[in-house]
Amino acid sequence: MHRIVIVGGGAGGLELATRLGDKLGRSKRAHVTLVDRCATHIWKPLLHEVASGSLDTHVHQIAYAAHARWHHFEFCHGELIGLNRSQHTLLLGAVADAEHPGEVVLPPRDLEYDTLILALGSQTHFFGITGAQENAITLDTLPQAERLRRRLLQTCVKSSARKDAGRSSPVDIVIIGGGATGVELAAELRRMEAVLREFKVHGSDQPGEMSVTLLEAGPRILPALPPDVTAATSDQLRDLRIDVSVGDPVIAVENDTVVTQSGRRIPSDITIWAAGIKAPACLAKLDGLSVNKINQLNVARTLQSESDPDIFALGDCASCPWTGDRMVPPRAQAAHQQAIFLFHAIQARLRGEAVGEFRYSDYGSLISLGPTSAVGVISPSSQAKRIFVKGRIARVMYSALYRKHLAAVSGLRKTLVGIVVDSLRRLNTPGVKLH
Ligand SMILES: Cc1cc2nc3c(=O)[nH]c(=O)nc-3n(C[C@H](O)[C@H](O)[C@H](O)COP(=O)(O)OP(=O)(O)OC[C@H]3O[C@@H](n4cnc5c(N)ncnc54)[C@H](O)[C@@H]3O)c2cc1C
Repeated sequence: MHRIVIVGGGAGGLELATRLGDKLGRSKRAHVTLVDRCATHIWKPLLHEVASGSLDTHVHQIAYAAHARWHHFEFCHGELIGLNRSQHTLLLGAVADAEHPGEVVLPPRDLEYDTLILALGSQTHFFGITGAQENAITLDTLPQAERLRRRLLQTCVKSSARKDAGRSSPVDIVIIGGGATGVELAAELRRMEAVLREFKVHGSDQPGEMSVTLLEAGPRILPALPPDVTAATSDQLRDLRIDVSVGDPVIAVENDTVVTQSGRRIPSDITIWAAGIKAPACLAKLDGLSVNKINQLNVARTLQSESDPDIFALGDCASCPWTGDRMVPPRAQAAHQQAIFLFHAIQARLRGEAVGEFRYSDYGSLISLGPTSAVGVISPSSQAKRIFVKGRIARVMYSALYRKHLAAVSGLRKTLVGIVVDSLRRLNTPGVKLH
């Protein structure tokens, strides 16, 4: 049987493994294996909600092992660390015990493939800024989002206990990067603070509120979106009392201060870095596969590696041509479209036919600004005129994007049951995790 191995069970990889398992694995026309360094999947665009405690991770995680059983593919827990292209073999690193990192649960293993699909996503790019990696928290993975949530909670509790005369705000948070992640997180923090005050976790007698500063190096926040979306978002952030600063790049991150090019020194109890991405460094060491400056695999429009036609890549870790000299952007929407393209392309390949070319369609972008508001542009088709949307209706559309991902991987029935369970659970919880 033809062996298809997909590495990375994120927005793109899990959808592809599910579709291929249901189609080819079930009928035993191919053996489909999904490899991931984690045991569970969570849709990455939800991570800012995990960080603010408004999303219950136990409800929203998908266990790969169970999902694989239900969708006729094999799950292999491990981290890709090497590749031997002539022997068609991957090397997976040892899996350590999370509680006792010295103890090995699974030893390093080889895995053979006929067709390999790399869907490793991306991670934070610090651009070599002094102290950023050491002093700032990032939001790439579930453990990082959980760590940020705990830090936020502890810092709020500590600030309630101390009486700092002369401090204008009980807690100072600085977010570096005015893209979608930074903006969405800033808005979520206000929701978190309101609930913590309501339940008296964050002292309600504190003078002033948490100060949230959003720093963007470029001339405007949300640079990838149209200017009217930036303007509407800036207005809403002002209403949420978030201090937005643009055009003043950060040059250093210290333990409790962020320093900008203009010489501003901004006090910070917690600094969050959300200012750029690069693909995982391991991709640059995979048996000579061609990568760009940020480690993304250079792929043709067929999504095949420029160095090896048996290797495909999708999502954030792939550098794929779009229009003119622009490349497909690193977004969940692109990973989803590429998963659908590869689902058909891999079947064509098994039949010995040409795989065709991937065409990215931009259906717009939505930015969440808390539980009841969002801003963005949508277009019903790639040719149609863009429609500006904001407020509650935009928030409903934003939530629908996640439901669409769930429906693609878990099916409509499970998604609908999930919506009902989640709504009932929310009736009986504070809205934000308090511990
Ligand atoms: C807070 C936040 C908000 C976002 N909001 C939006 C949004 O609103 N709209 C939008 O379009 N996009 C958004 N994005 C971007 C979006 O999440 C990514 O573009 C998308 O998840 C990319 O999908 P992917 O399949 O390429 O990778 P991912 O979804 O990142 O999945 C990568 C997978 O690979 C695994 N992996 C990594 N390295 C290895 C290895 N060496 N071995 C084995 N497994 C490995 C990881 O565990 C992970 O499961 C957001 C991102 C963040 C962080």
